[in-house]
Order: sequence, then C-alpha cells, then structure tokens
Amino acid sequence: MTHIVKRLRTTDPSGRVLGYTVERLSDDGVGATGVHRTTTVGRCPGCWRPVGSVDMITGVCTICARGPLCRSCETSCAVCGRGLCRRCRRGFVWGRAPLVVCPLCYRWLNRRAVHEQREAAKQAAFHRAVQLHRERMHGLAMRVQAARMGLGAPLPQPIRSGSLGTRYAHRR
Ligand SMILES: [Zn+2]
Ligand SMILES: [Zn+2]
Ligand SMILES: [Zn+2]
Repeated sequence: MTHIVKRLRTTDPSGRVLGYTVERLSDDGVGATGVHRTTTVGRCPGCWRPVGSVDMITGVCTICARGPLCRSCETSCAVCGRGLCRRCRRGFVWGRAPLVVCPLCYRWLNRRAVHEQREAAKQAAFHRAVQLHRERMHGLAMRVQAARMGLGAPLPQPIRSGSLGTRYAHRR
C-alpha cells in the first residue's frame, strides 16, 4: 500500500491564500487506486470568515496589531478613526447615538460622561435651591399681604440680608 499526500495552495493573483487542498492518493499495488481530497479555506484572522467570500484588506488593528482584517470585520473608531478588530472595539452610547470607539476613546468618553453627570447634578441642586427660595419668598409675600389686610400673623421683621435676598423672622 502506497500513500502519496499532495498539499496544494490556492492563491489569487496578488498572492493571498484563498484556501488549501490536500490530496491523498493511495495505491495498494494490485491495481486499486484512490484519491481523497479535502479542501480547507483560508480565513480572515479578525472574524474567521472564509477569505474567498470576503474582501480582504491590509488593515490591521491599531490596538492589538491583529491583521490583515477584512472589510466586514474592521471598524474605525468614531472619535479618533483608528482601525479596530472585533475584540478591541467598544460600544458607547452618547446621548441616544450608539458609537463604536477604541478602548482609549472609550475611557475618555466615560470620564467625560461622569464629569457631565456631576455637573448636571450640581445644576439640579442649584435649581432646587432657587425654587425653594422662590417658594419661601412667595409664602412670605402671602403672609405680608394677610397682615396688611389685618388677618392672622403680625408683620415679620427683617433681621439681616442674605445672598439670596432678605430673610425674615417672626417675633412671637
Ligand atoms: Zn474579517
Ligand atoms: Zn484588536
Ligand atoms: Zn478612538
């Protein structure tokens, strides 16, 4: 019994490997011969799709240096434009828009988002304080009105000036 194994490489004109074919020829010496052929396709290192069905480009991931990446698996960061493989890309939601970004920009965006949330909380606290003050002043005005009309509580006496206006205290 004799076995001959032939390994064939299929390449396109630019030299990139599209697939491999292995041929096993067998001969038992008394006239019975056979051929067994197996074909494997070359795959994109980025997404593992068969190379023949995708358009390979020479792009490499700028984060982990994997490549070459095909058109369907290489993405560029929406912020800095770096080429990214599937493993290195990060999803970020900015407002309502989902973005694909690189890990570096992701970190930066997160820091900014935290900062903006903090600023928004500060703003909200300020608006609440203003609103509270306004309500207090309104209540005071109502009491002054009532006192003027001779109803209920006596007129409040001013005690000192604060940053948000004059504060009043009742003498009882
Ligand atoms: Zn790919
Ligand atoms: Zn990568
Ligand atoms: Zn980026």
